[in-house]
Amino acid sequence: MEAKNGRFGIHGGQYIPETLMNAVIELEKAYNHYKNDPEFQKELQDLFNDYAGRPSRLYYAAKMTADLGGAKIYLKREDLNHTGAHKINNVLGQALLAKKMGKTRLIAETGAGQHGVATATAAALMGMECVVFMGKEDTERQALNVYRMRLMGATVIPVTSGTATLKDAVSEAMREWTNRIEDTHYCLGSCMGPHPFPTIVRDFQSVISKEIKEQILEKEGRLPDAVIACVGGGSNAIGAFYNFIEDKEVRLIGCEAAGRGIDTFETAATINTGKLGIFHGMKSYFCQDEYGQIAPVYSISAGLDYPGIGPEHANLHDIGRAEYVPVTDEESVQAFEYLSRMEGIIPAIESAHALSYAMKLAPTMSKDQIIVVNISGRGDKDCAAIARYRGENIYD
Ligand SMILES: *Cc1c(COP(=O)(O)O)cnc(C)c1O
Repeated sequence: MEAKNGRFGIHGGQYIPETLMNAVIELEKAYNHYKNDPEFQKELQDLFNDYAGRPSRLYYAAKMTADLGGAKIYLKREDLNHTGAHKINNVLGQALLAKKMGKTRLIAETGAGQHGVATATAAALMGMECVVFMGKEDTERQALNVYRMRLMGATVIPVTSGTATLKDAVSEAMREWTNRIEDTHYCLGSCMGPHPFPTIVRDFQSVISKEIKEQILEKEGRLPDAVIACVGGGSNAIGAFYNFIEDKEVRLIGCEAAGRGIDTFETAATINTGKLGIFHGMKSYFCQDEYGQIAPVYSISAGLDYPGIGPEHANLHDIGRAEYVPVTDEESVQAFEYLSRMEGIIPAIESAHALSYAMKLAPTMSKDQIIVVNISGRGDKDCAAIARYRGENIYD
């Protein structure tokens, strides 16, 4: 479904200060122009193919399928992209758009540092200045990613307000954009925030479902029965779902981070535990306390540790087109270990949330049915944390 006046059902919109209105209007105008510009699309496709390494593979996990004894499982290998995740799709699109708009500077927020690294990468490639806002807490937990960003020429600014994590980094990046819209584009990292960001990010990520459709038709001659993806803000999931939304026979399943469980306060499962609210420029579902304040969220996965969800997902939930299920830390760690052993593929702990649900679902389905799991990223970045979770310090 396309956004009407920037809304997906009752969700979305532009809940932003007056000072940002000009920036989002300028962005929307430019995007509406370039999305139909064949030259822009060709340049972006060349970057996708030659720089990011697209199309990413659709891999039939034969061993895993045999082991689980049900539906055939295919893995969409976004982990094979340059910089190791789906984030590069969005970032290359936005950086190219910013360049066409005459901007010379990219700013971004980052949690674990994955989106910051992707943005620093695109800025280096396109010769743009880059400033990344990152919660101070996160700069200490993710020192390697801070180094990678600096290595590629970006400035990393530690944010100390609030809980000094991702949501505070988003707020700070929005504030910075307000101060400097002439030469700066805010490269937002997920399908969230004020219109037109949820649509722009969705469109750049929808290359994932476009490829899945072509690849599965070639391999199986039919559409999958289910597409499963993890959901933080929701960009890899909406990318994997988008070209299947009209194919009603395809189940679309988003896996939220339940953390220690949706009945605890240590969770980030927005659809399963959140309420309708307005934050970061959009109306959607958010984890909130009894007073409607944004609640602190928790997940073992830094990439899913966000208190909201993109407005298009909120609407897909409302209209019953997509399902959103909670997956705990423990279930995800088991899936992380399982795929590593079973297929020799170490998935991002985010992606392991989706994989875990596929492992539950596959045995309940028949052998002629098909599940596609989006492996949004690779898991090298998570090895130290998962070892620690299992009581081992790999640096000792
Ligand atoms: C950032 C990240 C996510 C979560 O972001 P979405 O916008 O929900 O896709 C998921 N997987 C990986 C590997 C990530 O880096």
